[in-house]
Amino acid sequence: MKRLSVLFCLVPALALAQAAPQLPAPELTEVWTSVPPKVAPGARPGDPPSDAIILFNGKDLSGWESVSGGPAQWRVADGEMIITPTSGSIQTTQKFGDVQLHVEWMVPVLPANRKGQDRGNSGVYLQGLYEVQVLDSLDNPTYVNGGAGSIYKQYAPLVNALRPAPQWQSYDIIYTAPRFYGDGSLAEPARMTIFLNGVLVQNNVALRGPTEYRGIPLYKPHGDAPLMLQAHNNEVHYRNLWVRKL
Ligand code: MG
Repeated sequence: MKRLSVLFCLVPALALAQAAPQLPAPELTEVWTSVPPKVAPGARPGDPPSDAIILFNGKDLSGWESVSGGPAQWRVADGEMIITPTSGSIQTTQKFGDVQLHVEWMVPVLPANRKGQDRGNSGVYLQGLYEVQVLDSLDNPTYVNGGAGSIYKQYAPLVNALRPAPQWQSYDIIYTAPRFYGDGSLAEPARMTIFLNGVLVQNNVALRGPTEYRGIPLYKPHGDAPLMLQAHNNEVHYRNLWVRKL
């Protein structure tokens, strides 16, 4: 009887020992190199982190030039870059590929008869080719892939997260440049993730090609290129522009 009870005790213990899986050591999935570099974040949301390239110094247009050639013609006042009626689009003198980009923009209060695409129209062009639309489209009907937060004529924003004019709006854009094969054909399309005022409006979308006002976009091979801000004969203000190379 005693021998039997010992057996009954042993059998479940043996079964348990057999069923117990051989657990991998936790160290097997630990990675210790390369250690990410330290980056000091900005004091407040939207402030540039320590490794950002400041695109606008708040005082003058150094680092910018006119897209049509010569010096940039925008007005600078109160730490803002302002589009004037004849100023033309401007671009950075530096060229960029993959970036994290922060841009703040503001459209003044406009009369009700300024409608559709004529209400604070500008644009942030990644690599001078791919437009994130700037527009006061909070209560301003227009085609949905042409409002603020859209990738112009390609993707409507997921939501309309604009603030009423003349409040400042912010874009935080994660941009992956397109890749091309040696023969110029497309290997990987450009991709964008966009936050408008901290709200996700584009989630890693694949661009169909460069922004086109008319017709279907078609990729053409290119390398690093300037960031461009569009002048569309509308007064739009910009400030606090910075970029991190990725
Ligand atoms: Mg535009």
